[in-house]
Amino acid sequence: MALDIKDVTKRFGAFTAVDHLNLTVPEKEIFGLLGANGAGKTTTFRMLLGLIDQTEGQISWKGEKINYDTSHLIGYLPEERGLYPKLTVKDQLLYLGRLRGMKKTEIIQEMENWLTRFKVPEYKNKKVEELSKGNQQKIQFIAAVIHNPQLLILDEPFSGLDPVNVELLKEAVVDLKEKGTTILFSSHRMEHVEELCEHLCILHKGKPVVAGSLKEVKRSFGKKNVFIDAE
Ligand code: ATP
Repeated sequence: MALDIKDVTKRFGAFTAVDHLNLTVPEKEIFGLLGANGAGKTTTFRMLLGLIDQTEGQISWKGEKINYDTSHLIGYLPEERGLYPKLTVKDQLLYLGRLRGMKKTEIIQEMENWLTRFKVPEYKNKKVEELSKGNQQKIQFIAAVIHNPQLLILDEPFSGLDPVNVELLKEAVVDLKEKGTTILFSSHRMEHVEELCEHLCILHKGKPVVAGSLKEVKRSFGKKNVFIDAE
């Protein structure tokens, strides 16, 4: 297994946000983490990225503990968008690409490929604040994948997007998987997970309620009283 989460718990004071989570994400697969607001999805991702420490348990990527040295292997699209509104798209991506040790020419090449693919090549000289929410999300996605990470973590990537942009991002996710990227993404919506994932886990109040292949989860999903919010 590529990503191994073993008996991981996160407490904030007396509150348990993630409760004994066990997950294994196979390599080169799209894995879905489904759950309502406050289920513990973002907290799980933040532990995976080493942004916060787990209270208990272990997390490893291909047998190695994830830490600062392995962070270049991971790409992350946060739920709360993290772009600088006053920077141009090009300067934004140059800045983020350099943080990941890329050369300027590589960053420009990747940026141009992705902007063309997303049908917005002219955006490279626009400031982030001039773009619509959907277009900012595309830039945020490019920022997450520009260094060709082995593991891509997408926190609610389709949230608040119009159907055309949802389709563009979904196609990009499937292509990355076909090229060998392991992808873990969260959603409130079963239909996104159903369309993209081979395996998934439903989190409820920090606990995994059901996990397994799409078929297995769908079979037990109807029998459990799990509430997934509408967006
Ligand atoms: P959402 O879709 O709303 O982001 P989520 O499944 O990502 O939901 P988390 O953001 O992981 O949920 O939050 C899980 C729980 O942990 C929530 O009740 C949240 O208030 C709590 N929580 C998250 N971070 C902290 C923190 N730093 N201190 C205290 N409680 C926290």
